[in-house]
Amino acid sequence: MGFTSIRLKLTAWYVALLAIILILFGLLLYFFLSNRLYEGVDNSLKVSARVVAKTALMKYASAPMPGLEYFLNQFMGYDNMNKFFRIYDGSGNVGSRSKNIDGSQFPLTQEAYSRAVKGEDTFETFLLSEGHPVRVLTMPIRRNKKLVNLVQVGTSLQAVNETMKNLKIFLYTAIPAILGVATLVGFFMARRALNPVSKITQTARDISSGHDLSKRIPVPPAQDEIGKLVVIFNDMLERLENSFVHMRQFSSDASHELRTPLTVLKGQSELTLNKVRTLNEYQEVLSSNLEEINYMSKVLEDLFVLSKADENKIRFDCKPISLGSIIEEVCKHAEVLADEKNIEIVIAYLEPVRINGDAVRLRQMIWNILNNGIKYTPPGGRIKVSLQNREDTALLTVEDTGIGISAENLPNIFNRFYRVDKARSRSEGGSGLGLSISQYIVKAHKGRIDVESQLGKGTKFKIHLPKLESSREALSA
Ligand code: ADP
Repeated sequence: MGFTSIRLKLTAWYVALLAIILILFGLLLYFFLSNRLYEGVDNSLKVSARVVAKTALMKYASAPMPGLEYFLNQFMGYDNMNKFFRIYDGSGNVGSRSKNIDGSQFPLTQEAYSRAVKGEDTFETFLLSEGHPVRVLTMPIRRNKKLVNLVQVGTSLQAVNETMKNLKIFLYTAIPAILGVATLVGFFMARRALNPVSKITQTARDISSGHDLSKRIPVPPAQDEIGKLVVIFNDMLERLENSFVHMRQFSSDASHELRTPLTVLKGQSELTLNKVRTLNEYQEVLSSNLEEINYMSKVLEDLFVLSKADENKIRFDCKPISLGSIIEEVCKHAEVLADEKNIEIVIAYLEPVRINGDAVRLRQMIWNILNNGIKYTPPGGRIKVSLQNREDTALLTVEDTGIGISAENLPNIFNRFYRVDKARSRSEGGSGLGLSISQYIVKAHKGRIDVESQLGKGTKFKIHLPKLESSREALSA
């Protein structure tokens, strides 16, 4: 798996971030709490010092009141409060002190005395011989700007230090424990979250090894990022499968389409070469062969157009054109074919309408539709052509009185190589690609092609093409 696994990376990032947060939180908590506790000790020392000063020293007396220790013990509970005090006279000699501490263990420092002379309080921390830290406040009492007494109040810092030590132990054990649990939980959660990714990988592997595009990944119930990815992946597989099926069908149809005329060519040529033939017989075979060759080149040409269309490589040279004049031109050419079959082409009406289009491709599309009309209409029939100038579109209608198409075949006629009557289409020289190409041309012009038909009565093709103004908008969109 290595460190390339997203699961490990995610867990590592998450745990590292959590560790930073916890360490910062621990440090802040430790310093904030120790500050507050020491500040609390100092404040209580200050209050106590004031009480001692007020109680002990009568307004103008310089010596403490007799029996002070007893009094303070009784009323203030100094023993319980774990505090002690000492009172000095102005020159730094001890006057009175509480009994709960051996006063000699911490001195009146020179610095505290000098600050007291200036009227300033001094907080100091001493380490007693037993290793107990004590906090001591030295507070001056001045009268007429002269130092008359010094009150020293102290308390043990053992409880505070004990609290801080306990907090440290707690943080030292809790943070690694939390990080350990977070690593396990993070790893488990990352594995759960990335489970569908493993399934995607497995499916992709199965597809690439077995070439089975019909496989799909089970969609997870949650529509989260991975759920969406699975849906998109399945969608992509669906489209890939469709296009592979389509491609396979297309190439098998195409090869089949070319194999038939080639077999005919081969058979006819071999048969002719069996013995010496008359000139007439040779001419007949050659002209039949030429028909097959023409048919094959038509199929190849149409296939070439469609394969270029699939790759989006057909360039449309769009210009403003009058659709009516193109229709007239194509109808004129088609009349030659129609006359041969005794079919009448009637241009019912051509309303003037301009579109933005490629004249060559549009001519090809109209020719395909008209040619189909001629191919699938029996002699004596009629093809009616009209062009209407609608609100947004130009509507070209080609309606014949031909054989028609049954409702079940109608939805398929635009599919490549689809022919309702193969033999008939083949005998008419059809490749089964004409309508696919026509539909592609219409779609490339942002238009639409519809068909209505009734078996035995006739077929009507309706081609909607955007008019110049709207087609410009459509093409620039
Ligand atoms: P083809 O070269 O076979 O004409 P197309 O793609 O042009 O191929 O048409 C597909 C099929 O649609 C035709 O084989 C035919 O069966 C049917 N078809 C197309 N146009 C008409 C029409 N006007 N009348 C009846 N059938 C038609």
